[in-house]
Amino acid sequence: MTPADLDARLSAEFLEILGGFAVAEGEEGFPPGTRTVLLLGPREPGFWPHLLAQPEWDGAPDPVDRWSRRVVGRLACDLGAKALFPFGGPPYHPFYAWALRTGRCWPSPVRLLVHASQGMLVSIRGALALRDEVAVPPPVAQPCETCAAPCRTACPAGALGAAGYDLPACHGWLDTDGADCLTGGCLVRRACPVSATYARMPEQSAYHMRQFHR
Ligand code: SF4
Ligand code: SF4
Repeated sequence: MTPADLDARLSAEFLEILGGFAVAEGEEGFPPGTRTVLLLGPREPGFWPHLLAQPEWDGAPDPVDRWSRRVVGRLACDLGAKALFPFGGPPYHPFYAWALRTGRCWPSPVRLLVHASQGMLVSIRGALALRDEVAVPPPVAQPCETCAAPCRTACPAGALGAAGYDLPACHGWLDTDGADCLTGGCLVRRACPVSATYARMPEQSAYHMRQFHR
């Protein structure tokens, strides 16, 4: 499958390559024979309406993860690769470390990941562990280096900042004054100027907030 063929397959499922990295021969922590890992995430615009039209949206739990398993799993089969997922553990694959290894994701000042084009709304749906050495998107400059860091102060509850994530404080705010977060997504993630350039729909963020705050 050529890079153009792979991109066409991903595009049909509203997925894109978030980044990738080479794996040394015999390196531990990957399926045997892996030489390249590609991380996959939603391609916008259009990801959320596409997802809502899929058979996994049947009222049963975890439709997003079930869809990811089917789509990324089938793609991996077609490529002779292995599909890896950030859910379904324990044990869990170290997706956070893998994201950093791409050179296109970094720890933000509040520790959540920030991606070169998706900002703090980045969502990794799975990875392909390929047996071939293939070109990956190049590393780019970290956006935080030239940013005034509104992410540090955007949480109205003071629950997410440089000191980390105070989950009880976040849930407490969502119980009382959190309508904006619940309908449009976490204000910290939305405050990031890179997030603002990424066309994720508020409905998607609201769905994930409902899953988070049940
Ligand atoms: S969801 Fe709202 S309350 Fe929770 S961390 Fe984000 S901004 Fe703060
Ligand atoms: S708001 Fe600025 S500092 Fe914070 S994650 Fe986004 S780019 Fe980085």
